[in-house]
Amino acid sequence: MSDSAVILLIEDEAQIRRFVRKALEDEGHQVLECATLAHSMAHVHESKPQLAVLDLGLPDGDGISFIRELRTQSALPVLVLSARSAEGEKIRALDAGADDYLTKPFSIGELLARVRALLRRNKAENSAPESAFSFGEVQVDLVRRQVARRGNLVHLTPIEYRLLCAMLSDAGKVLTYRHLLRAVWGNAHSESNHYLRIYVSHLRQKLEDDAAQPKHFLTETGVGYRFQI
Ligand code: CA
Repeated sequence: MSDSAVILLIEDEAQIRRFVRKALEDEGHQVLECATLAHSMAHVHESKPQLAVLDLGLPDGDGISFIRELRTQSALPVLVLSARSAEGEKIRALDAGADDYLTKPFSIGELLARVRALLRRNKAENSAPESAFSFGEVQVDLVRRQVARRGNLVHLTPIEYRLLCAMLSDAGKVLTYRHLLRAVWGNAHSESNHYLRIYVSHLRQKLEDDAAQPKHFLTETGVGYRFQI
């Protein structure tokens, strides 16, 4: 495997640990297992993983506090595993700095797709910043601040453009309402989810082939949005 990585798996349920470990190892990754938070931070520093898969319900502590602490020291991508009964927890984890989530039960295919996306994104972030970006039939010139679709310039309002850039810069990552509202409008409007619905629908109308069946500006129900290249 060309993109093999060291992945830290923090999960107290042995059955899920086995299932996740096997799936990741079959992809060529090396998996470090932790059943508690106690040794997890030490693993982050000593084993230098490229990704953490973190269960939120652990016997010796709160996964969300762990993410907050981690973010003061490291940009390690974190994929959260959450129980379906804990939807609010999932959003708090994302706002604390988690990068993506999976709701249990999940399939191997879903898990591996999220892992690939996070590893790819991390690699892209560590390379030089880009001045242009394209997806579907859309080209974004980040220097001239111009957007074109099928070679024709598309007019975006300043807010639409800021929202587009906020989504592009975190492509593949699930972005909470709060994150996007802060990125585009600042703190004052961090409760106004309907603004986002309106402006995401503008971007879909202007940039998607079919605004009713978006391929790039995806809804994450109850959480926020995800930009998919
Ligand atoms: Ca658990």
